[in-house]
Amino acid sequence: MNFNLKDEAAIAQDELNSYLEAQVRAIAPRFKCLVPVNIKVERVGFTRNASRTPYIVYKVGDRRCCTFVKRLFFLELVQVLLKVKYSIEDRIRSITSSEYFGLSVETTEQPKYIPSSYINTFLERYNQVALEKTAPQQCGCNDLYDMCLHLIARTLHNGVKVKSFTRLMREEAHERK
Ligand SMILES: [Zn+2]
Repeated sequence: MNFNLKDEAAIAQDELNSYLEAQVRAIAPRFKCLVPVNIKVERVGFTRNASRTPYIVYKVGDRRCCTFVKRLFFLELVQVLLKVKYSIEDRIRSITSSEYFGLSVETTEQPKYIPSSYINTFLERYNQVALEKTAPQQCGCNDLYDMCLHLIARTLHNGVKVKSFTRLMREEAHERK
């Protein structure tokens, strides 16, 4: 089969498109939306039974609903929030909901309290980013919460490089010397 120049350009473009589509597919299953519509998050908590399943109470228009989230997925989301909002990349050890529905997060370094307004806003916007597939573009947003949709998209796109335990142990061993 013979290709002329136009065909080759078209093939290159097709390859690029399928590469980009594969990239989006690779990210998409991990970072799926919480609810397939835009939501207003009211509060976040954990069930009182032994499973301590995270739940999110939200509103769509006037309708109030609740969704349960897998613990590991919730942990991953809070890890993204720590990176976006506080530039913290220490691995989360535990999360508990505290007074006024904020979250108390224990990391391998210092504990962190996340006020409910931040966690609620983050989850709303995360959902929007996942739903609308916001591009991870550079931006000049002057956002009240310092976590615009693009910053969340960029962080998801780049991934959060959490300090591994092995690296942490190596650092501790180094300090003991
Ligand atoms: Zn932005």
